[in-house]
Amino acid sequence: MNEMQIKTWFGDNRQSALILPLCNICGQVPSEGIRGVIKVGKAWICRECEQEIATLEVGSSQYGLIMNKIKKVWK
Ligand SMILES: [Zn+2]
Repeated sequence: MNEMQIKTWFGDNRQSALILPLCNICGQVPSEGIRGVIKVGKAWICRECEQEIATLEVGSSQYGLIMNKIKKVWK
């Protein structure tokens, strides 16, 4: 998701934007608040975790672990 899409979402959901999102991967509220997370389906992922996922090798145990967490949120 790029910066433009985040801004669009932010603008269309002012009510929801008041709620600080919790990253579904690390369980932390990003210091930047709503601007520090991206929405993937129903899951929130902070920038730190997003970068971590981007560097993970597909098929590695860590990758599987994170994907399982995301899948749980999506169900
Ligand atoms: Zn995170």
